[in-house]
Amino acid sequence: MKEALLTLGLFFILVSAVGKTDRFRDERSALLKIINSQFAESSGTTSILRMSPSVEKSMRDTPRSQFIPQYLRRYSYANRPLSIGHGQTISQPFIVALMTEVIRPKKSHVVLEVGTGSGYQAAVLSPLVKEVHSIEIIPQLAKKSKILLKGLGYKNIFSYTGDGYYGLSKHRQSNRKIPDLFDSIIVTAASSHIPPSLIKQLKIGGKMIIPVGGTFQVQYLILVEKSATGVKSKNILPVRFVPLTRN
Ligand code: SAH
Repeated sequence: MKEALLTLGLFFILVSAVGKTDRFRDERSALLKIINSQFAESSGTTSILRMSPSVEKSMRDTPRSQFIPQYLRRYSYANRPLSIGHGQTISQPFIVALMTEVIRPKKSHVVLEVGTGSGYQAAVLSPLVKEVHSIEIIPQLAKKSKILLKGLGYKNIFSYTGDGYYGLSKHRQSNRKIPDLFDSIIVTAASSHIPPSLIKQLKIGGKMIIPVGGTFQVQYLILVEKSATGVKSKNILPVRFVPLTRN
């Protein structure tokens, strides 16, 4: 009798565990559909009809719930930004997918992210590129995301604490392994202008995506492309980001 009860108990634990995984899997699939329909709706301005298979796979595989505070986890797969503490937010999944897509990531690329926050954007980029270097100005968030990313097994994400307005130029003096130039740069906090030092750290042929505009004004995601002859910029979409702050 005791054994039968034990078996039954184990069975229910197993069923509920599988049920939970399935629920998240369903929510993730639903989210991918929503993201793709948002790409279709905004394709007039972004020129992107839907996620490419590799970006879609990374969005499917990256466990967003791990990057979200426990009390908000039930909204992990809703297409909305969420608070991550310290007055900061993890971006809406569509925006993460869009920023990832517009830089056209390649397996050989070395990417800089300014504004690590929860670490989610860095995690989405990780399987698509060679290296992600990510800098965060709030020490507590930098520490938390570094520990989380390590715990989740991300090996090609390198974390830094500090003001990313100058990219990693200030860190370079202390660590010779830091790249001089990047194939692309993703800035996940809004700046009033495009920081010239970030343009300098972009390779020829490189791309930068950055929200530009004031805190209570319309901000635009701007795609900056650097060529041998100069720098071109293109408005992609109106957005709302937390501000790029300065030390
Ligand atoms: N990419 C993040 C989004 C975080 S929100 C994610 O996926 O969760 C933007 C982040 O940029 C915040 O954590 C904020 O603290 C950080 N930030 C703001 N100004 C910064 C600066 N000058 N340098 C580095 N990080 C900055």
